[in-house]
Amino acid sequence: MLKLPPLSLYIHIPWCIQKCPYCDFHSQPLKGRLPNIKYINHLLHDLEQDLQHISNNREVISIYIGGGTPSLLSNNAIQMLMDGIRTRLLLNENSEITIEINPEIIDSNRFIKYQKTGINRISIGVQSFNSKKLKSLGRTHSSKKAKEIINLVSKMNFKSFNIDLMYGLPNQSLEEAIHDLCQAIVLNPPHLSWYQLTIEANTLFNSYQPSLPDDTTLWNIYKKGNQLLTAAGYHRYEISAYAKPGYYCKHNLNYWRFGDYLGIGCSAHGKLTKPNGCIIRIVKNKYLYSFMNGKYIDTQYQLNNDDKKIEFLMNRFRLFENIPCSDFYKYTGLHETVIESQIKNAIASGYLLKVKNYWKVTKKGKLFLNSLLELFL
Ligand code: SF4
Repeated sequence: MLKLPPLSLYIHIPWCIQKCPYCDFHSQPLKGRLPNIKYINHLLHDLEQDLQHISNNREVISIYIGGGTPSLLSNNAIQMLMDGIRTRLLLNENSEITIEINPEIIDSNRFIKYQKTGINRISIGVQSFNSKKLKSLGRTHSSKKAKEIINLVSKMNFKSFNIDLMYGLPNQSLEEAIHDLCQAIVLNPPHLSWYQLTIEANTLFNSYQPSLPDDTTLWNIYKKGNQLLTAAGYHRYEISAYAKPGYYCKHNLNYWRFGDYLGIGCSAHGKLTKPNGCIIRIVKNKYLYSFMNGKYIDTQYQLNNDDKKIEFLMNRFRLFENIPCSDFYKYTGLHETVIESQIKNAIASGYLLKVKNYWKVTKKGKLFLNSLLELFL
């Protein structure tokens, strides 16, 4: 019988103040009042349906309340959600519990309420400290407000907090991007997600493409930014994730290590391993009307062995950590022999190293991640 991987819980809140032109997350502008209690009741029913796939002694190591804009939920709704989760799931005493917030709709009273519910990590969607850039991104908060909220959070004894910051913004110069990053570093967040703006399908930016920095500028921003973050004591542990030692995000690490997660709420995704090694994916209904009428599941399917293999590697190769070879069996239920010849090819091509019982992606492997993965297809 397979030892099951760690288990997390993702909760999706599908409303925002307005839709940002670059965003392809499932969310819609809030019109009128948010149906707080009704939505939380559906989330808890959705969770109950998923419980059949896990044994009741499985501990949850992390919870992530994301969206959309979860800080649009009322304090009562958050309390009801957290109470409802606790009566249905076993939380590990060190569970990391994160909520994403929009700096525009938050205050100290709200943070105190969050702490009472057990939320111990805050993720702040800042994106830029430049007012013009914020405007071009469709964000409703100001740079001043974002700094106020970051200073407030840093004094409030949360276990950790994260700032989301983007680079490669419309018409952004190297100097502007680095100035943004320096302002974030000065605020000293334990965790910083620093990622490049990309144009996604089904976004306004895809229909009306803004003028983005050229590849040379992007490369220079990345190189300089990476140096500054390293000098400030941040470890880059994933392509866009930087953290001070001891502050890696447990929830995201569990995704990237190919751990299990329940996903509840409109459009959420879950991945669960059964003791017999079978792995299922559950995709929730993206249509809010149907979700709010109790039709929670859109699709559910079982991964075949090729899916397990490639999904494990795609996730693990993103991380800047050695991969214990035994994790391949631990997380997929497949024996290492099924990838033996491809591993040899990857080593011969200079993409991978085998050191003792670990695999390590080389610099070349990181630069040519797609070529490395192609060897396993
Ligand atoms: S606030 Fe966040 S989730 Fe909402 S539209 Fe903007 S980027 Fe997307």
